[in-house]
Amino acid sequence: MTERVWPEVYKKLGVSPIINAQSWVTALGGSIMGPEVRQAMDDAANAFIDIKKLNLAAGEVVARSCGAERGLVTAGCSAAQVLMVAACMTGQSESNVEQLPDTTGMKNEVILFKGQRNRYDKAFVTAGATLVEYGSVDSVTTDDLEAAINENTACIAYVVAPFVPAGIGLGETIRVAHEHGVPVIVDAAAEVPPRSNLSKFHNMGADMVAFSGGKGIGGPQSAGVLAGKAELMEAVVMNSLNLDSSVAGIGRPMKVSKENIVGMVTALQLFTDSDEAAELAGWHSKAEFVAERLTGIAGLRVVIEDDPAERQGPQPVLYFDDNFDGPSIDEIKQQLEDGDPGIYVGGGGSRAEINIVMVNVQDGEEIIIAERLNEILRS
Ligand SMILES: *Cc1c(COP(=O)(O)O)cnc(C)c1O
Repeated sequence: MTERVWPEVYKKLGVSPIINAQSWVTALGGSIMGPEVRQAMDDAANAFIDIKKLNLAAGEVVARSCGAERGLVTAGCSAAQVLMVAACMTGQSESNVEQLPDTTGMKNEVILFKGQRNRYDKAFVTAGATLVEYGSVDSVTTDDLEAAINENTACIAYVVAPFVPAGIGLGETIRVAHEHGVPVIVDAAAEVPPRSNLSKFHNMGADMVAFSGGKGIGGPQSAGVLAGKAELMEAVVMNSLNLDSSVAGIGRPMKVSKENIVGMVTALQLFTDSDEAAELAGWHSKAEFVAERLTGIAGLRVVIEDDPAERQGPQPVLYFDDNFDGPSIDEIKQQLEDGDPGIYVGGGGSRAEINIVMVNVQDGEEIIIAERLNEILRS
């Protein structure tokens, strides 16, 4: 076990570092950037460059990694959502770009399946658009989508995430949209790994696809990866920093620093070059380590689950039967969080389980997690 050295910078602020067994969640810091990424950002911080040239060069790396025509490093997936919608509304019209968020005279409706409404969809209307829902949460057809499309439709948004249903599916959505000459934009924030998803949705015909940079890719937490068709991406660039115009675009408050641009492309290249099978195997062995140490506790069932539709990486899931006479799930979580270091796990609330997500558990931390769980569950 490598000794974990906790960063002093957090202690100086009186904020204690924690063990993140809850996944790439924003609330716990996204992901940890590898040493190469941190070094690249440190190097980038020590020189001036032409930001426009840097954005173009970084965009080429993004486009190549995603198998798309053009790419851009954004200030996160949410920022990319704002820019995608802005681009669909303005096209490459400079006056339209300057006019946002006033959408007068532009197509300004974003269509989204009702079942895919989520806490992040505010970003689809930030640039001035109106959200139009179709279908109901449990029932949706191609006809529902067809009926929602009209002459004001700017684009159809689609969300790929474990917590929303697929509705009529991305493939069918793209087919219908393109039949009507409407672009499809995709929020796939946390859908990598698998690495193949970087290009999958583009290969299916999506017009633009956005990923978070600071989740599974391991880049800066406030960076993202956006790629898509060249014409729309040109409009995205016009709506972002817009260094060529006297009026900064709607994306100006979402600028990406030179350090984050460099960190993002470095992380993306490392991510696409790294061994996915080895990464999975590492998560699996941590999951097994914890599961093995929790055997023989009456009323506790530990199952390693890895269904990608439900779980981010292989992880031990703890199920409690009626004859378990220890603390409640929420009490267990509280005790874990209150310890030193605090351990944050998934589950609780409406989910009658505790799940220990390994994707952000650093080497050796699985030992601390197993020890603490044993203390709490066997007491
Ligand atoms: C995390 C997430 C976002 C926000 O991404 P950021 O990179 O943090 O801006 C948007 N949509 C979904 C589905 C997410 O999971």
